[in-house]
Amino acid sequence: MHCNVLEYLEEAERAYPKKLAFGDGAMEASYSAFAQMARQIGSRLAALGAYREPIAILMEKDVPSLAAFFGTAYSGCFYVPIDKTFPLGRIRTILSVVEPRFLILGKKDAALKEGLSIEATVLYLEDLLSPAPLDTGLLRQIRERHLDTDPLYMMFTSGSTGVPKGVLVSHKSVIDMAEQFTKTFHFSQEDVFANQAPFDFDVSVKDIYLTIKNGASMQIVPKNMFVLPKSLASYLNEKKATTLIWAASALGIVSTLDAFKEEAPRYLNKIMFSGEVLPIKTLHYWQERLGDAMYVNLYGPTEITCNCTYYIVGRAFGLGETLPIGKPFPNTEILLLDSQGQLAKPGESGEICVRGSCLALGYYKNKEATQKAFCQNPLHDDYHDLIYRTGDMGYQNEYGELVFTSRKDFQIKRMGHRIELFEIEAAVNAVDGVEKCCCIYDQEKEKIVLYYQAQRNLEADILKSLQANLPKYMFPNLFYRMERLPENSHGKIDRPRLKLEYMEQRQ
Ligand code: AMP
Repeated sequence: MHCNVLEYLEEAERAYPKKLAFGDGAMEASYSAFAQMARQIGSRLAALGAYREPIAILMEKDVPSLAAFFGTAYSGCFYVPIDKTFPLGRIRTILSVVEPRFLILGKKDAALKEGLSIEATVLYLEDLLSPAPLDTGLLRQIRERHLDTDPLYMMFTSGSTGVPKGVLVSHKSVIDMAEQFTKTFHFSQEDVFANQAPFDFDVSVKDIYLTIKNGASMQIVPKNMFVLPKSLASYLNEKKATTLIWAASALGIVSTLDAFKEEAPRYLNKIMFSGEVLPIKTLHYWQERLGDAMYVNLYGPTEITCNCTYYIVGRAFGLGETLPIGKPFPNTEILLLDSQGQLAKPGESGEICVRGSCLALGYYKNKEATQKAFCQNPLHDDYHDLIYRTGDMGYQNEYGELVFTSRKDFQIKRMGHRIELFEIEAAVNAVDGVEKCCCIYDQEKEKIVLYYQAQRNLEADILKSLQANLPKYMFPNLFYRMERLPENSHGKIDRPRLKLEYMEQRQ
């Protein structure tokens, strides 16, 4: 039984010392080189007295930053990845919660330090990586004291929830994720993960830890390939990428820009996506070009360590249908709870609540929010039994598959009718030419406002299609076309921003 993710790294190092572990275009590190980099950083941090505390890392998306994550683990600390391109105000807010004693950044970002006005000791990644004798005795002592319940990383929730909260995740939860994913999808040392997700977004946790758990390889896809994805397929082919675990929006970029028009990926056999409902149109685009690959809809919030349910696409889906989120991973239970805290009746909608080793340790220095979301299983009071309340609603369909319907906060009552805004969105997304869309609700005026992304006005087409599919009370009252819907830093539609823009313009 594993109790520290470093055991995965060391096992892979022993089995495949020369094999590529991580590549970023500029640097390719073998397992032995990478593990050595990590120990180097760990030894230096430990010598400075860092232990069981957060190490903030203002990172690039590159191999040295990954080595800093593992180096932090070697020192017995937990890493807090922060995107250095975030606005300074956002970085300051995050750091004010973390209050780190140590902050790692690259020398070329030294100027950032001035704007941050924090007490932390700044450590340059280049210095931490420069060769020096390892304090192996100290690293051993740290390892001997390690528990699998110790934290490994802290990630701040995306802007989609408004206020950033630091979600603290233990080694145990990441090990559980890596074991269940490997068992379920049969990863092996043959796999090459093409990483899309930013390192401060937990979608990337799967790429990183599934790579080391399986002695596989991970290649970081250059960011610009998602802006001009023409060369994406040849990049994936050159790297012989077998697996994509991407944000649903990234798959959408490929289909919207018809990135595989001239060349399609040849080695991909697993295409997994999460974060948002994947429009069926996007799925069709991929399936038409990569018919033999396994497609998996993964569902779950950061607070349950990546994903708690999965659905392997196993039948044809028509436009307007929604992909199920499937069933829970092994060692995970999903409870659908009604507003009274009781199990929802078969077929009825309930809040998706999660039990298992996947539960995070809570929100850093935020007891109140932690206790609200990570709470006692309301089905009994016999012993301490935590569930995480996702705030997402779902139900079981006729096949016994879970279906995500909406955020709790996107369920509205309008003129007495209970409406899931996502249901309207699914119908609008099915309209030819609509790339994506988002509905918001103006409670005061009882108006449903639709923002859609398309290259021409499609109001008439949308209305025609809705007339055929939805009751009238679900029709949007206002239509706004945008060439590009705003996205948050994790590539999801920035709903709070659209709502704010709408409210400002309504004044
Ligand atoms: P995050 O913590 O940023 O990954 O966001 C998690 C939230 O994204 C979930 O609580 C859901 O609201 C949404 N989400 C994640 N995966 C899916 C999916 N496969 N389908 C629909 N919504 C999803």
